[in-house]
Amino acid sequence: MLGNGEPKDPGEAARVGMVRLQIWGRGIRDPETLRALTRVPRERFVPAGLRHRAYEDGALSIGSGQTISQPFIVARTTAALGLGRWCAAHPGERPRVLDVGTGSGYQAAVLAEMGADVTSIELDRELAEAARERLAQLGYGNIVVIQGDGGDGYVASAPYAGIVVAAAAPRVPPPLLEQLANGGTLVIPLGDRDGQALTALRRSDDRVDEELLEPAVFVPLRGRHGFR
Ligand code: SAH
Repeated sequence: MLGNGEPKDPGEAARVGMVRLQIWGRGIRDPETLRALTRVPRERFVPAGLRHRAYEDGALSIGSGQTISQPFIVARTTAALGLGRWCAAHPGERPRVLDVGTGSGYQAAVLAEMGADVTSIELDRELAEAARERLAQLGYGNIVVIQGDGGDGYVASAPYAGIVVAAAAPRVPPPLLEQLANGGTLVIPLGDRDGQALTALRRSDDRVDEELLEPAVFVPLRGRHGFR
């Protein structure tokens, strides 16, 4: 017990409220996703000056012109991966997930809380280093942060049960589909710079089924498969 009735985890109440209102309240029912968002201390992923806004219903600036995604979008993306279904079909295997656009590392931490081994790729060197350090401090040993162009995927850890992309793309980067396991799901915002549809692509044998999830506005994907 800590003294003075001080809560051990000061963000917990705010987090529980966020999940109830913004996530459950908007129809996301996957218990694993709800649990994962209840566990990740989002206040540790935003700049110190914005901590008081960590559980707001929106994206926040994390520097270098980039953002930490809105909690609802992170939840929608995570739930759409269907990792529970993948695990049921592959008993005893830990799912490997590729996270493109590490940013703060928040989405990667949520995926790690889902029981995945996460490879996360960030183009910006400073953001990659900061996220690597933050995730290590928080004890996320099952996340590897790589600095590079995530549009090319990361073939060394492929195939992936799930791939999530946190930057808007004009079309699906072909390497990502190639690195998706049979039965795996890729979630990516597709569209133009001003607006996109968060899209889930599910691969089964020779087929790819596409589902439009949400309208969204993400920062643009850069690199070989991004916008010019
Ligand atoms: N998932 C992040 C959100 C980051 S915003 C979070 O939870 O905080 C999108 C990120 O994608 C930015 O950090 C940006 O630098 C990065 N990015 C843009 N193009 C990229 C590319 N081709 N490869 C890897 N990262 C890229």
